[in-house]
Amino acid sequence: MNGLRGSHSGFVADTLSFSCVDGPGNRFVVFLQGCNFDCVACHNPQTIPGHGPVEGHHPEHRTIEDVLVEIRRAAPFISGVTVSGGEATQQWPFVLDLFAAIHDDPELRSLTCFVDSNGACDPVAWAALAPVMDGAMIDLKCFDDEIHQEMTGQSNEPALASIERLRQLDRLYEVRLLLIDGVNDHAALLRRTADWLAGVDPGMRIKVIGFRGHGVRPHDPPLIEPSREMLETAAATLRQAAPFDITIV
Ligand code: SF4
Repeated sequence: MNGLRGSHSGFVADTLSFSCVDGPGNRFVVFLQGCNFDCVACHNPQTIPGHGPVEGHHPEHRTIEDVLVEIRRAAPFISGVTVSGGEATQQWPFVLDLFAAIHDDPELRSLTCFVDSNGACDPVAWAALAPVMDGAMIDLKCFDDEIHQEMTGQSNEPALASIERLRQLDRLYEVRLLLIDGVNDHAALLRRTADWLAGVDPGMRIKVIGFRGHGVRPHDPPLIEPSREMLETAAATLRQAAPFDITIV
């Protein structure tokens, strides 16, 4: 077992052998079941419940070795592994052991290990993960806490703290801004967001993501997809604050 510490099993919603949208390069993705947010714009609401049966969906308790078998199969074709969700850090001891096992395995140790998170994570967990994690992608749903709470049911304070902490740990790979037309894309709000992010790291990588309605639960009033032009305007507004490395998707 190559030094596997694996006492933990994870509650896994799904895995994906190849993805080019979950971090740098081509990646194996583990989607963990359970989330501490309840986002109006969630594309995978079936991954939110942390326990019990989920209609039409079959999350499983899986051991680290079980997941490693799948990663070994994909290893020749990938540059790394990303743990996503749900919310990956809700099960951070499992993530820690999985990444440690990857580092301990001579066949897998060249793979990079990333976490995709909503940022609502105890700073203790980031400190524990940092030695075995190459980076984290953090979703900042909204810099305005009131709007953030309307969008997710939770405060944004832990996400802001996570961004700062990960930067201190040199593990902040990217901040992701999911923009919904008329909800969190106001120019004044984006300027405040940019000023704060510039204070953390003026050169940070930012991904501006346009909301897409596919798979999202019905909302009243309906959530509106932003146009490409609106996303480009948003990126330009952010760039006025600092020379961020921005991509739009
Ligand atoms: S943080 Fe992600 S998985 Fe959780 S509810 Fe929001 S969009 Fe869905």
